[in-house]
Amino acid sequence: MNLKIALAGNPNCGKTTLFNSLTGSTQYVGNWPGVTVEKKEGRLIRNKDVIIQDLPGIYSLSPYSMEEVVSRNYLVNEKPDAILNIVDGTNIERNLYLTTQILEIGLPTVVAINMMDAVDKNGDKIDIEKISKTLGCRVVTMSALNEEGVFEAANACIEAAKEPVKECPHVFSGSVEHALAHIEESIQDKVDKQTLRWHAIKIFERDKEDYKSLHLSEDLLSHLEEHIKDCEEEMDDDAESIITNQRYEYIQKLVSTSVVKKHEKGKLTTSDKIDRVLTNRVLALPLFALIMFVVYYIAMGPLGTFLTDWTNDVLFGEIVPGAVDGFLSSIGVIDWVKSLVIDGIVGGVGTVLGFVPQIAILFILLSILEDSGYMARVAFIFDRIFRRFGLSGKSFIPMVVGTGCGVPAIMSCRTIEEEKDRRMTIMLATFIPCAAKMEIVLIMTQAFFEGNALIATGMYFVGIAIVVVFGIILKKMNIFSGDPAPFVMELPAYHFPSIKGIFIHVWERVKGFMIKAGTIIFLACIVLWLLMNFNFSLQLVDLEESMLKVIGEKIAFIFAPLGFGTWQGAVASVSAEIAKEQATATLGMLAHAASEDEADVVLAIRSLFNNNSWTGLSFMLFNIFNAPCLVAIATAFREQGSFKWGLFTFIFQMCVGYTLALCTYNIGMFVTAGVFNIATIFAFVLVLVILILLFRPVKKN
Ligand code: GDP
Ligand code: MG
Repeated sequence: MNLKIALAGNPNCGKTTLFNSLTGSTQYVGNWPGVTVEKKEGRLIRNKDVIIQDLPGIYSLSPYSMEEVVSRNYLVNEKPDAILNIVDGTNIERNLYLTTQILEIGLPTVVAINMMDAVDKNGDKIDIEKISKTLGCRVVTMSALNEEGVFEAANACIEAAKEPVKECPHVFSGSVEHALAHIEESIQDKVDKQTLRWHAIKIFERDKEDYKSLHLSEDLLSHLEEHIKDCEEEMDDDAESIITNQRYEYIQKLVSTSVVKKHEKGKLTTSDKIDRVLTNRVLALPLFALIMFVVYYIAMGPLGTFLTDWTNDVLFGEIVPGAVDGFLSSIGVIDWVKSLVIDGIVGGVGTVLGFVPQIAILFILLSILEDSGYMARVAFIFDRIFRRFGLSGKSFIPMVVGTGCGVPAIMSCRTIEEEKDRRMTIMLATFIPCAAKMEIVLIMTQAFFEGNALIATGMYFVGIAIVVVFGIILKKMNIFSGDPAPFVMELPAYHFPSIKGIFIHVWERVKGFMIKAGTIIFLACIVLWLLMNFNFSLQLVDLEESMLKVIGEKIAFIFAPLGFGTWQGAVASVSAEIAKEQATATLGMLAHAASEDEADVVLAIRSLFNNNSWTGLSFMLFNIFNAPCLVAIATAFREQGSFKWGLFTFIFQMCVGYTLALCTYNIGMFVTAGVFNIATIFAFVLVLVILILLFRPVKKN
C-alpha cells in the first residue's frame, strides 16, 4: 500500500535537500527561494511504499502566488497521508506561521525543525517537547544538510499517518473562535469533519478560492457574512488582518516560552558582518564584478585551458580519431563512412565535449557562490538597482538560474505574480549566458582573444546590461508599465557549501551536456556531414560543391551586415538554434574540413572569420544574445501561454542579438579601421534609437 508524504515549508528551509536525502534523487537545491516551482515525486529509499512529494516553498496558504496555489491545492484537495512540515530552526518564528495554517488542514502532520547544525552553532536552544505539546503534533529535529535525523523524520510521518489527528491548537481569541464555531455549524454538511476548521477559517478570511470550491448559496453567504461582520466590528479590524495578527501573536507567545536565543538582539552574526562588506551600497557591484572575474579567470586559466587543450587537441584531435581510424581501417570500411565517423561525429561532437572540463570548473565555482548564499545577496543587490528603474529584483532570480540553462530559468519566472513582470522576465531571462553559450564564448575567446577571462566576464555583464537596458525600455512601454512587485526575500545565512550539493549541481550540468552531445548534437553532426559531403544529386563531392555551401550562401546575406556573411558563418549561426553548443560543433567540423592538416581547431576557426577579431566578436555576440535554443524557445512559448506572446518574445530576442552584433561590428570597424558604409550609418542610427527609447521621459499617472 502506498503512503504519500508531502514536504511543505517556507522557501529555502531545506525541503529539496531533505527530498534528495530521503529519495536518493538529485533535484536542484538552490540557496534562494523559488527554485522548486513544480512539485516532484520520489520514493523513500528504505521503504519503497512511501512516496515523498516535494512542494514549492510557501510562506502561507493564502492563494497569492503560483507556488501557494500549487501547494495549497495539493494539500487540501489531493490530501496526502501525512504532511512533513519543515521549519528552518534558525528562523523559527517566521516559519511557524505556515505551520499554524498547515495544522488547520486536519491531516496528520509532523513538524521537522531543520538546520539544527546551524541552531547548535548559534548556541540557541529549542524546547521540542513544549512546541509539540502546544501545537498538538509530533515535532522532530534534523539537519538535512548533514543527513542527520532525516529518516527519523520520515518514520515519524509514517507513524503519524496511522494515528487519528488531534484537535488543532486554538490560535485565535474568543470572539474569533465564536464566529468560527458559527461558520463551522453552517457548513458542516458540505465538507468532511477533518477539514471543517480549515474551511471555516478560509470563509472567515473571505477567501475567494475557497468560496468557489464550496459552491455556497447566496443565502448562506449573506448569513455567514453577518458573523464575520460582527466579529470585525468587535475587533475593529478586517477579518483577514485579524487572523494574520492573531497567528503572529500566538507564535510569538509560543516562541518566547520555548526558544532561547543565545544572540542578543542587535548583536551582529557572522553573516551580518560578511554582508556589511558584500552588500555595501558602494562596494557591492564592484565586488560582484571582481568575484565573477575571478570565477572566469580560474575557469579559463591554466588548469581549464590545459584540460581543454588536452581534450580538444590530444584526446579528440589525435587519440580518438587515431584509434577510430585504426579500427575502421582494420575492419575495412569505405572512406566516406570513415570520414563521417571521424570528421562528422568525432570532429563535431568531440568539439562540444572538449569544452566540458572547463564548463565543469566554471560550474563548480558558480555552485559554490550559489550554495554559500552569495547569489541570494546578488539578487538583493540587483533589486536595489532594478527598483530605481521600476523593475523588481525578483526578475533577477531566474537570471541566476539561467547561468546553468535557460529552460529552468524561464520556468522559475512562474514565481513572479505580476503578469507584466513575468512576461517581461521570460523575454529577458535567457540573455544571461547559459552553459551551452559559454562554449561559444570559450571557443571564440580562444580563437580571437587569447582566452582572456575579461571577455568571458564581459559577456556575463553584457547579458546583465541587456537585461537592465531592455528592461527599462520595455517597462516604459504601456504593455509592461506598472510598479515593481515587492521583493521580500530572506537572506539565508552564509554556510559552507556541501560537497554533495556541488557535486549534484555540476554533475547535472555535465550529464546534460553528455546527453545532448550523444543525441541531438550527434544527429545534427551527421546531418551536417551529409550536407557537407553531398550535392543535391546526392553525389559525394568536395566541400566547395556541397549542399551545405549552396544553402549557406543563399542565407549568408542576412549576416553580411554583422561581418560574417560567409556561408560558414551563416550555417554555424543557424545550427546554433538547435542547441547553442552546436555552433561549436559546426565550427569544429568546418574548421577540420577547411584545413586538412591544421591540428589546431582554434586557429582554423580564426581563418573562417578572416582573422578579424571584430568579426569573431560579432559572431559571438549574435549567437549568445539572440533567441535561445529551440527547447528554450518552446519553453518560452509555453510559459507565455499564448502564441502571440511567444512569437513576440522570439522576435524581440532576435532583434536584440542582431542589433548588438551589427552595432558592435560596424562601429568597431569604423573606429579602428575607418571602414564606413551604409551599415555603419545604420549602426549609428540604431544606437541613437536605443538611447532615445532608454531615456525618453514617460508620464507617470
Ligand atoms: P528549499 O527551497 O526548501 O527546497 O531548500 P533547499 O533544499 O534548496 O535548501 C536551501 C539552502 O539551505 C541550501 O543552500 C541548503 O544547502 C541549505 N540547507 C538545507 N538543509 C540544511 C541544514 O540542515 N543545515 C544547513 N546549515 N543548511 C541547510
Ligand atoms: Mg526546493
